[in-house]
Amino acid sequence: MLNSERLNSVLEDKTISRQDVIEIYQNATKNPNELFSTAQNLRKKFKKDSVTFSKKAFFNIVNLCKDTCSYCTYKAEPGEEKLSLMSIQQTKELLQLAKKYRCVEVLFVTGEKPEERYQEAREWLKENGFKSTAEYLIHASELALESELFPHTNAGNLNFGEMKELKKTNVSMGVMLENVSERLTERGMPHYLAASKRPKARLEVLENSGKLGIPMTTGILVGIGETIEEIIDSIFAIKQLHQKYGNIQEVILQNFQPKPDTIMKDSPSADESYFKIIVALSRIIMPKMNIQIPPNLSPKSYQSFLTIGINDWGGISPLTPDFVNPEFSWPEINKVEEDSKNAGFELKCRFPIYPEFFSFISKELRNKMANIENEEGLVKKEYWK
Ligand code: SF4
Repeated sequence: MLNSERLNSVLEDKTISRQDVIEIYQNATKNPNELFSTAQNLRKKFKKDSVTFSKKAFFNIVNLCKDTCSYCTYKAEPGEEKLSLMSIQQTKELLQLAKKYRCVEVLFVTGEKPEERYQEAREWLKENGFKSTAEYLIHASELALESELFPHTNAGNLNFGEMKELKKTNVSMGVMLENVSERLTERGMPHYLAASKRPKARLEVLENSGKLGIPMTTGILVGIGETIEEIIDSIFAIKQLHQKYGNIQEVILQNFQPKPDTIMKDSPSADESYFKIIVALSRIIMPKMNIQIPPNLSPKSYQSFLTIGINDWGGISPLTPDFVNPEFSWPEINKVEEDSKNAGFELKCRFPIYPEFFSFISKELRNKMANIENEEGLVKKEYWK
């Protein structure tokens, strides 16, 4: 089959095979234009001419982590300056600030089960009156909702019971798949010291989110030593989960950027041409799904991704740093709006749940959104501007 025939078949709503995607990739490395224009046509067909973002505050609840991913600078060790152990009082104060800044989303982030490894984490939980990090998050999510802010928790591999409890207050949750490759967990590879990143463990969390009907954010990390087949398999794995449960609300495509204090400090950043091909391939594989790139990780060129398939910028905070990528500050929301407009797209603010997933959440949560919701199920402009 010719490359153009393969791409045209996607435009005709036909599903595409793994082998076809590999061949499209190989052609795109010589000339990506045909792939890019197909991705753009699909994006226009299913996502029209707007691009969304979520106005958020990043709550770095606890950054001790029992795992060590070779690329991670978020994780702290006891005694380090960047260590974060937020007390409930600090959480309450930041919630007040988030409200003042008219944020919509409260992003709760923690390391992986810190209390299993660190005495400091166990003491921090005890001081605040909790037995586990999950228990802390359940309480903090209740506080967020009381302030009419909408929690989205990303705390690694939570178990079924913990997720079930958090579903009561969280309009969505997140866990990055990163990659389905077992090879990347071998000695010398980025996930060798991270049991929680074993593909089986991550897929189980995503399966559980499906069984629980939680609108879920997941995604892949591009440029960490994977092969193209491993990337394609990872995108297909996400697509298959969505076909099974219908609950994957968005797919984040994150380009690797080396961090000075990590094992991978000397590895090169993800190559932009390679990353762009992955972005366009993702649109081809998942034509109707929400695809996001973080604008701060491509500060000079993020708007160019609008014409190769993406339809969301993810969370942007006017208040807190991106603790996962502290060297890349978020662009001003006004600047993102202007850049999007110049590329031909209208910026709109969404809740941390996309409108097409509203049926997954309780009536109580939906009612809480009513005050600031517009007729499209997005956030009223007068609130976020
Ligand atoms: S990426 Fe997550 S699991 Fe890996 S070391 Fe960092 S905080 Fe821990």
